[in-house]
Amino acid sequence: MSTFKAIRIDKGETSSHASYVDFSEADLMDGDVTVRVSHSSINYKDGLAITGKSPVVRRFPMIPGIDSAGIVEASTHKDFKPGDAVLLTGWGVGETHLGGLAQKLRVKGDWLVPMPKGLDAHSAMAIGTAGFTAMLSLLALERHGMTPAHGSALVTGAAGGVGSVATALLHKAGYHVIASTGRPEESEYLFGLGADEILDRATLSEPGRPLGKERWACAIDAVGSHTLANALAQTRYGGAVAACGLAQGMDLPTSVAPFILRGISLLGIDSVMCPQPLRRAAWQRLATDLDHDKIASLTIDIPFSQAIEAGAAILSGKIRGRVVVKIDE
Ligand code: NDP
Repeated sequence: MSTFKAIRIDKGETSSHASYVDFSEADLMDGDVTVRVSHSSINYKDGLAITGKSPVVRRFPMIPGIDSAGIVEASTHKDFKPGDAVLLTGWGVGETHLGGLAQKLRVKGDWLVPMPKGLDAHSAMAIGTAGFTAMLSLLALERHGMTPAHGSALVTGAAGGVGSVATALLHKAGYHVIASTGRPEESEYLFGLGADEILDRATLSEPGRPLGKERWACAIDAVGSHTLANALAQTRYGGAVAACGLAQGMDLPTSVAPFILRGISLLGIDSVMCPQPLRRAAWQRLATDLDHDKIASLTIDIPFSQAIEAGAAILSGKIRGRVVVKIDE
C-alpha cells in the first residue's frame, strides 16, 4: 500500500509530539471521498494541536490541519467525482478525524464544499477557517439587522487571521472600521486592509466597567475574556457583538447590564459544525467580497516543511494575517 507525506501527532507519556512522517494510505479513516491536498493553512487551533498546548486533539495518532483544499482523487459520493476542486474546513477534521496537513485526506463528501467560482486552492486556504469565521460573524451581524448606517464596527485581534479578514470584509460592507491590536507596528497593514482607526488593545484587555461610553454599533471579537466584556460595555444601544474567539481567554467577566439596559445582543459563532447551506453561502460571499489583492496582502506562504514551526508561532501572537501551507512542494 502506498504512503504519503503528513504531519503526525503522537501521544507521549506526558505530552504529544508532532513530526513529519510517511503515512500509510491504509491507515486513513473512513470516508467516501479521497482528496489530493495541494494547500492547507495554519489556524490558532492547528497551533494548539501541533504544540499540544490545549487538548483539541481527541484521537491519536492524528494528522492536524483543520483546513484543506485540493482535487478529488476518488469518490463514491453522488456530488463529487475525480478531478473536482474542493475545499474543507471544520467538522472535527484535524481534531477527531485525520486532517489536512498531509498530501491525502479521506472524508465524508457531505463535509466538502465545491471550490467557489473566483477562488482556487491557494486563495481558499488564505481565507481558511479564520476567514470563513469572519464571514459567518458578518452574516450574523447582518441577520441581526446591522448596517453601516448604525455606526462603526470594532474588530478585536485585528492583526490575526480572523481579525484581518473581518477588517477587510467590514470595510467592503461599508463600515467605519475600528481595528483593535496590540501591534501598533501593523497599523499600516491594517489601514491597507480597510481599517479607519487603530485602537490599542490594552484599552480593552483590562477589567472594565459593565457599561461605558457608547463607541461602536457592532463588533467582531476574536479575543474573549475582558476584551469581549469591554467590547459589549461600549457597544451602542441596540447593537450586536459576534463572539468567535478566545485568544485572551475563555472567560467572559461581564454582567447582564449591556443586555438588559442597552438591548445589546451577543451572537455566538461556530465554524466547525456550521450547516452546509450557510457554509456554502458564506464561501460564495467570500469569493465575491474579498479582492485578490486584499487576500494577497494578508497572506504569508510557507512550504510544508515549515508548518510545525508556524503552529508554534501562531500561539505566540507573532503571525500576521493568514499562513498558507503549500503541501505539494
Ligand atoms: P490568530 O493568532 O491569528 O489571531 C489572534 C489575535 O488575537 C492575535 O493576532 C492578537 O491580535 C490577538 N491576541 C492574542 N493574544 C491576545 C491577548 N492575550 N489579549 C488580547 N488579544 C490577543 O488566531 P485566529 O485569528 O486564527 O483565531 C482567533 C481566535 O478565534 C482564536 O481564539 C481561535 O480559536 C478562534 N476561532 C474560532 C472559530 C470559531 O469557529 N468560533 C474559528 C476560527 C478561530 P493583535 O496582535 O492584533 O492584538
